[in-house]
Amino acid sequence: MCSRVLFCNIGWTKYYRGQIDDIPKNGGGYNENNIGHECYNFFNNNGVYFGYVQSKENRITLSKIDANTDINADSLDDVLVVWTATPPSGKKRIIGWYEHATVYSTLQIVPDDVKQNRTNFNNCVEYNIKAESSNVYLIPENERGEDYYLETPGRNVWFADGKDNGKVNKEKREKAEKLKAKAIELFDIYKSKINNQISEIENEIATKTEQTQKQKELINAQIKALENLEGSDVIGLGKQRKGQGLFRNQLIEKYGKCCLCGITNKQLLIASHLKSWADSDKNEKVDENNGLLLCPNHDKLVDKYMISFDEDGKILISKALSTNDLILMNIVVDKKIKITAGNEYFIRWHRNKFYELEEQRKPSKD
Ligand SMILES: [Zn+2]
Repeated sequence: MCSRVLFCNIGWTKYYRGQIDDIPKNGGGYNENNIGHECYNFFNNNGVYFGYVQSKENRITLSKIDANTDINADSLDDVLVVWTATPPSGKKRIIGWYEHATVYSTLQIVPDDVKQNRTNFNNCVEYNIKAESSNVYLIPENERGEDYYLETPGRNVWFADGKDNGKVNKEKREKAEKLKAKAIELFDIYKSKINNQISEIENEIATKTEQTQKQKELINAQIKALENLEGSDVIGLGKQRKGQGLFRNQLIEKYGKCCLCGITNKQLLIASHLKSWADSDKNEKVDENNGLLLCPNHDKLVDKYMISFDEDGKILISKALSTNDLILMNIVVDKKIKITAGNEYFIRWHRNKFYELEEQRKPSKD
């Protein structure tokens, strides 16, 4: 059981990635005229998240989180931060967690490279909590239901220390312990749910790789058979296992067909990640906004960054692809896909990678 727990109440947004149409709501008077710095609380900065909570005089008394903390300490490690917010309609609830977080007693300024990524709200540069991306969990907005209601006191920062004006109050202490236990229990449930989803997708990716491998073997066997004209080994393609993953199901529901060519045969459709699996953190791995539904050919082109999409969703095509490739791969040069508030970040990530690789590529000779 975590002994260091901090409850932080912030404004409500859908993604907390600093998107122009997703500014914090219900964060108190502060948010009505200014954009709360928490608008970037769940924005992955090369594996680190910088969280902000508005606190009294911009200070967090660390000894209230852990009584053994040195009074002069600037920061405290290994804190479970429970983020709560109130939606436009409904009760306050948990929206996510930072596990093993570092909490600072005073406001810090994000590093310069992080500032550069905060283009929409470039004055939102303060933070007082930091965590590694592997320890950060944001509940998708549509899943933040009644299960996550948490009746913590109406302060932005709540220590759950059971104290009243510095003195332990038995009743308050009991209530605090209950809320702590609930927040931790919900966290454990959510964590295992996410990890299950991640392993589901991992299985799908493994299946996809295995199928590609089998196709290669089949082709090689066919070539061999043709060369030898002796009895060929027939290597059957393994029966295609249909991915049952939630991520893929969400994309099937959202798009229903290949985003590029419109093929609707579900057996052929692949849930493709825009931000690569390896670079995505837990939240991003299962975020439907990080996926496109594609047929095998188009999945491969997106996967290899041979095609990408501009800010309006118009297709970008690698110079390494020949006109013939485009025809055979069924690429329409002015094809457009829909960019939504949620997937804008992931499309941008994919596009940056595309341009990076494009610099190293040689143009097709035909
Ligand atoms: Zn397609």
